[in-house]
Amino acid sequence: MKAEVIAVGSELLTPTHIDTNSLFITERLNQLGIELQGKSVAADDRTALRTIVTDALRRSDLLILTGGLGPTDDDLTRDVVSDLINAPLEYHAEIFEAIEKRFASRGLKVPEINRRQAMVPRGAAILANPNGTAPGLWIEHDAKRILLLPGPPRELKPMLERVIEERLASVAGATRLFRRVLRITGQSESSVEEKMQPLYARWLCAPVRIVTTILASLGQIELHLTAAAETSDEGIRALDAAVEEVKHALGRDLFSVNGQTMQEVVGDLCRAGSLRISAAESCTGGLVMTRLTEVPGSSDYVDRGVVVYSNQSKTELLGVPADLISAHGAVSEPVAEAMASRMAEIAGTDLSVGITGIAGPTGGTPEKPVGTVMIAAAWRRDGKPETRVRTFRFVGGREMIRFQASQAALDMLRRWILEAAP
Ligand code: ATP
Repeated sequence: MKAEVIAVGSELLTPTHIDTNSLFITERLNQLGIELQGKSVAADDRTALRTIVTDALRRSDLLILTGGLGPTDDDLTRDVVSDLINAPLEYHAEIFEAIEKRFASRGLKVPEINRRQAMVPRGAAILANPNGTAPGLWIEHDAKRILLLPGPPRELKPMLERVIEERLASVAGATRLFRRVLRITGQSESSVEEKMQPLYARWLCAPVRIVTTILASLGQIELHLTAAAETSDEGIRALDAAVEEVKHALGRDLFSVNGQTMQEVVGDLCRAGSLRISAAESCTGGLVMTRLTEVPGSSDYVDRGVVVYSNQSKTELLGVPADLISAHGAVSEPVAEAMASRMAEIAGTDLSVGITGIAGPTGGTPEKPVGTVMIAAAWRRDGKPETRVRTFRFVGGREMIRFQASQAALDMLRRWILEAAP
């Protein structure tokens, strides 16, 4: 079944509103094994909407429109669809009565313009909307199915769930789609792609076919694996086997096999090893701590963090020797190491990181250009902290550099914990 989504609303064509309904619809359709042919955003304009719906009807078997079912003149979805399929609009008194009741329950009189919402193309099935005034509509026309859903997400979501249960699940094929998001760090997109190519080719011909998409984002590469299978057992088994192959191909650079973020992965490792963690941050301004503490339950392993931005604060709060800073500069490996090890000692944690760098846009020098970040990890075993330190050269603007530094710091901890694991 070929499907297409059309989000209707001129506000969705401005810089202030995003069409999120189509993401939710796509996710739910994919779970039924239905893939999208395309999607569009249409203005509240009769001609534009008519053109888009006409094209989509030519291409697809299932068309889902969201929005434009309200009572005002610019809500045109009902009119345009009724016109296109030659199904005249008919007044349904019971819809208007339900709207009247909704208004009355708030002590209000329903405006006359709401009568428009009681107009239904002949032959359409009415989908009740317990969360709003606009009912949804299900239309079957020339072997095509057209679904009209209200725009507000809180009205659309429960309505779509009911349509899936009552109508769509039975017409979708037996095949369902199962997804897995894998995340990789420490390799470029092209190097991941090169190692993955032989696997892609094999997976495409496997009994349970797996399609992959590779996406580069800041500080990580994502691989999305989609398996088409008839049962969840089959789908999950195929994905599990595929993940094992990726582990083999990419090794420790593969840090997440089930959509977990870096901070969740590090958190799980700390919890499993009963390790407590602290951080001393300069150029990341607390981003490592923010990310770690975003994870519910992180108090199991997060102890504390300090932001030591000035040289004075590095000395006052952490006891980093002032002459170490003047000898090497604040952005240097010895200072990063001192930050991490002093932090671990002061906090009494097993692990700590120290981050110092130049996030820019100013402050770079020929030897230490913008994007230079020194990251140290410390591990206190038998009292004395052991440290590891690396110099990174990140590219991008200030926010990008800060994020990549936080990612690299968390990744250093992750790799060290894994290495030390029995
Ligand atoms: P109503 O009866 O509430 O007027 P409607 O079907 O006419 O419903 P719209 O008026 O088009 O819906 O949109 C109402 C609100 O729903 C918008 O202000 C917006 O906040 C939200 N909305 C509409 N379409 C989308 C979309 N595609 N993605 C996310 N939100 C949306």
